[in-house]
Amino acid sequence: MKIGRYNISVLEAGRFKLDGGAMFGVVPKVLWEKQKPADEKNRIAMATNLLLIQGEGRNILVDTGLGDKYNDRFKEIYAVEDGINLHRALAGAGLQPEDITDVIITHLHFDHAGGNTVRNADGQLRPTFPNARYYVQRQQFEWANRPSEKDRASYFPENIIPVKEAGQLELLDEGGPLFPDIELIIVNGHTPGQQLVRVAGEERSLLFAGDLIPLAPQVAIPWIMAYDLYPMTTLQEKKEILARAAEEDCLIIFEHDREIKAATVQRTDKGFALKETFSI
Ligand SMILES: [Zn+2]
Repeated sequence: MKIGRYNISVLEAGRFKLDGGAMFGVVPKVLWEKQKPADEKNRIAMATNLLLIQGEGRNILVDTGLGDKYNDRFKEIYAVEDGINLHRALAGAGLQPEDITDVIITHLHFDHAGGNTVRNADGQLRPTFPNARYYVQRQQFEWANRPSEKDRASYFPENIIPVKEAGQLELLDEGGPLFPDIELIIVNGHTPGQQLVRVAGEERSLLFAGDLIPLAPQVAIPWIMAYDLYPMTTLQEKKEILARAAEEDCLIIFEHDREIKAATVQRTDKGFALKETFSI
């Protein structure tokens, strides 16, 4: 798909599962299970949909998914599926890791930053993308180094420290333009310093909604994850961002939705709802 000066693709780089209750917060299961059925352990199917932005001499990847450094215990808890992974997703787009010029990380949770690094045969960790700059908000990087008891299970230093040690990490102090027509939007409800990515086009713009709106049903304002550190902040951020998206008829990419990867939204009397879904 073309958005302005860029070619845009969504790469599915992995599949896993998370607890449905945690994903929908205060929303009762009788409501959410109609949209996202749970397995016998109450987990729902999740994807890691990454954004590939190509143009202006760059191959920009937004988020890197789960990666492949996890052990058997992790694989069991999160029901990580074999077969779909970052390498294959890139190869499907005709790319090698060396071709990626820039990696924008929305935030450092393991299902967004797990593919940042790989382990060599000798056990050494190294950045997956040897020629890329990696962009993270400083606020998020600092939080990841000292997370709270609530969210420390989501952060693995192995996903970012080797990037820093290789000199490939760019810590950013604000949102705004990063490249021509590519803007970072900072939100703080899920975790401090999460950066969403907006690509501006003449006819239509695109928003990669990260963990602000990870699943399509979460365009409903109160459908907020229990993982969020500051849910009332998320609520306000969703209102503002969805209002702008509805007004602009912006295409929203849902990073964790297996079925609906992209959609536009519209205002309803209760808030917001999906308008049109896209396969991208
Ligand atoms: Zn997250």
